[in-house]
Amino acid sequence: MSVAKSFAISLLGLAGTLIEIEAEISSNLPSFVLVGLPDASLSESKDRVRAAIQNSSLKMPARRVTVNLSPASVPKQGASFDLSIAVAILAATSEISHHSVRNFIHLGELGLDGSVRSVAGVLPSLLSAKSLGFSRAIVPAANLAEAKLVSDIEVIGVHSLAEVANVHGANLVIREPEQIAATVLEPNLAENSNLENLDISDILGQADAIRALTVAAAGGHHLLMVGPPGAGKTMLAERLPTLLPNLPLAQALETTAVLSIADHRRSAVVALNGLVERPPFEAPHHSASVSSLVGGGVGLPRPGLISTANNGVLFLDEAPEFQLPVLEALRQPLESGEVLINRSAGTARFPAKFQLVLAANPCPCGRSFGQARGCTCSEVAKRKYANKLSGPLLDRIDIRLAISAANAGQMALDLEAAQENQMTSKQLRQQVQCARELAADRLSATPWSLNVQVPGSYLRKQLRLATEVTQPIDRALAKGKISMRGYDRCLRLAWSIADLAGCDQPRREHIVEAAYLRGSDSPMVGV
Ligand SMILES: [Zn+2]
Repeated sequence: MSVAKSFAISLLGLAGTLIEIEAEISSNLPSFVLVGLPDASLSESKDRVRAAIQNSSLKMPARRVTVNLSPASVPKQGASFDLSIAVAILAATSEISHHSVRNFIHLGELGLDGSVRSVAGVLPSLLSAKSLGFSRAIVPAANLAEAKLVSDIEVIGVHSLAEVANVHGANLVIREPEQIAATVLEPNLAENSNLENLDISDILGQADAIRALTVAAAGGHHLLMVGPPGAGKTMLAERLPTLLPNLPLAQALETTAVLSIADHRRSAVVALNGLVERPPFEAPHHSASVSSLVGGGVGLPRPGLISTANNGVLFLDEAPEFQLPVLEALRQPLESGEVLINRSAGTARFPAKFQLVLAANPCPCGRSFGQARGCTCSEVAKRKYANKLSGPLLDRIDIRLAISAANAGQMALDLEAAQENQMTSKQLRQQVQCARELAADRLSATPWSLNVQVPGSYLRKQLRLATEVTQPIDRALAKGKISMRGYDRCLRLAWSIADLAGCDQPRREHIVEAAYLRGSDSPMVGV
């Protein structure tokens, strides 16, 4: 056999295309040619494949080797084709069975010593392979936890090319795993494990803010906190994910798939831990660029932080300090729950259903609260600062909360009460879970499952409440004290508050609390 083929998957975003790898051995002078739109990183694969074959007690043919990756029009990037190229060559020289090779999808990067290293995007690749009718795959052992998330596909995890050759009928002596170079670089998990230890009961003297976070968690509402530096806005935002229930399987798979192709650190965490069940939390610095937030990359499109925060929380601290194009770029994903990224290699669609939490100081210097003592900002500077958060972005924010620094007396009281009745994240998370189930039942005949997704017209018509219940906001609307959008936000929040209380409909007191949480139409003024 001088021609053989193997199969791999090329990803564009989360969508995979089947790539057929043909290897041909001809009797010309020894050389190694790779054709079919390979990028620079893929061209280096020639050297890795040659060395890996030679160092695995296998024979690299001393003739002309031509490897063609088709379809040629599909862009291919990265090192994950190494393994499929190597097995195609070995099958063409009859070192291994070419029948066996064709039944598998092969994913993996090769080390020069013949080891198989972890690659990004194993989960989305195998989901694509399954939909293309493949039922078997060979993946790096380091990616096995991630690969096993795909049901109905038999996965073999391997440490070395020799192990792969044995799967396909070779009979090589396998070296002990410790003799093979480490196949996974230990990711830095410190960042995540710190977040796992957070609890809402760490926060003292902010009962109102904790209540607002709980309502936000129940309905998936976006949230703005305005308050002076040191009021604990970041502490609060970091603890919102602790109030959110575990992700349902479909969402967990979607989140895991995005993280698996996001960047080296995130994909290594996924490879190691498998399914991401907890909602992710992303908190970019205010110097972040549009492409780091929304997505971008050179050549192939890569997901940004709004997509790695998919089904979780995106926190923008000091939100008015972000560049205006960054804030504007959030509007469309907030509307549609996804983002399209165009790059030279093609257009990718990434999910971006995140819960947005914004924090802002009341003015650029941060001292304009209460008596505004020591604030040095000019009126123009204050207005410019506040205006960055105006308009269409704020329209999507249901909860606008003024936060003041907790006073020492209240903290002392809370400390006393802490042992007795301060709720922990776990307790609140259970309430949130029950509230979400009530909402999902009510909305089961609609495309929505969370209150945040329900449009105003549906709230006013299909979910119409008795006039004696809505009277407080009806009156405010008639007097022009709130806008129509503000009115809808009150209704939306009232449903989340009622769901938390276990009521089948909002009552008057729920409307009143909603009107408080809704805050003002211009939340940056008058804090
Ligand atoms: Zn100021």
